[in-house]
Amino acid sequence: MAGANSRDRELRERAAAVIPGGMYGHQSVGLLPDDYPQFFERGEGAHIWDVDGRRYLDFMCAYGPSLFGYAQPEIDAAYVRQLGLGDTLTGPTALMVELAEALTGMVSHADWAIFCKNGTDATTMALTTARAHTRRRTVVRAKGAYHGAAPWCVTRPTGVIESDRAHQILCDYNDVASLEAAVAEAGDDLAAIFAAPFKHDAFVDQAEPDIAYARRARELCDRTGALLVVDEVRAGFRLTRDCSWSRLGVQPDLSSWGKCLANGHPLSALLGADKARKAAASIYVTGSFWYQAAPMAAALQTLRLVRETDYLERITALGGELRAGLDERAKAAGFSLRQSGPEVMPLFLFDDDPDLRKGFCFSSEMLARGVYVHPWHNMFLCAAMTEADIAAALDAAEGAFAALKRQAPELAPVDKLAFLSAGAR
Ligand code: PMP
Repeated sequence: MAGANSRDRELRERAAAVIPGGMYGHQSVGLLPDDYPQFFERGEGAHIWDVDGRRYLDFMCAYGPSLFGYAQPEIDAAYVRQLGLGDTLTGPTALMVELAEALTGMVSHADWAIFCKNGTDATTMALTTARAHTRRRTVVRAKGAYHGAAPWCVTRPTGVIESDRAHQILCDYNDVASLEAAVAEAGDDLAAIFAAPFKHDAFVDQAEPDIAYARRARELCDRTGALLVVDEVRAGFRLTRDCSWSRLGVQPDLSSWGKCLANGHPLSALLGADKARKAAASIYVTGSFWYQAAPMAAALQTLRLVRETDYLERITALGGELRAGLDERAKAAGFSLRQSGPEVMPLFLFDDDPDLRKGFCFSSEMLARGVYVHPWHNMFLCAAMTEADIAAALDAAEGAFAALKRQAPELAPVDKLAFLSAGAR
């Protein structure tokens, strides 16, 4: 636990004076239990160290970017080498073309790539491309799905005006009838259907994509001429080495990527099929840092590891061990813990925990035992994790469940509504 005189507390106080709200976005003050550190010093492999020197096995992986572990030597060596040659230059290096070739070689629906910095850049560019391609306005997307922090899609719409959100119809993920109704409502103005690879909304159980839903989304796009967009920003390369809906036999026209693309270095991408090439070439998109060469060098190494190693099979197996071990320990302690989503991106929610008091207590107890988990957002496994790490997490869980059992009767409620209105990532 962070003590009253900890460096973290001191930094929080200083931040409160110079950073609005003390922190913003997904790390905003109050979104996590109070004893969670806000400030970190370093990361290596599967671990992070907070500013008070405490080490944690990190099941957040920076909210996804760390796929091969922090400070991965081959990836970071490529990054540093390119920094020495040049990073932000007047134009891109040859790495940009190599990277577009590598990605279009790996992602079966993709014939071209545009690189950017954040996932939000890529999803917003998907929207603009679809509107340019169709010369229509309306986008259909699922309620509760996160696509970034731009005014058109941000979850906490303070400061957003109605016109920023215009021409959008929300449906229920995996619900074919609601998708059809939304498309019918869009009429002849449908530009795009956006879909998450699976339901990975915060606060609620995750769900695999229903094949019927994915196929219907494809059919509706084909029938209307709208573009199908799969937002791989969070799940990219953690489910498959291709676009994840290829596992369902459904190919989108556009897919947005980010987070782990360069294993934590700032890079995202919009990938597209030939059909949308002309529209993509017609829109004006750029940024001062979008041609940076060092993240592209890191991405080429990351993609090489994606292609050449068994990271995916290993993290899937480790995730399976974690899930089975947690299940056993939760049951033994008398808790009904719902674990949902793919093994490599788990979410834990307790039954009978509407205001998350059990989840917060369990997470705090895990943290106290050196394991950083999240009480309401999906987590991530990375390839730097080992069987010993999973065993350590399970040992921690055994202690955390026992501590939760002791404290459960007196736990104070957590104001979940405050979190919801503060906006989930
Ligand atoms: N789409 C999804 C599915 C995401 O999870 C996120 C980030 N959590 C984004 C888009 C936005 O990415 P970024 O934060 O890099 O802008």
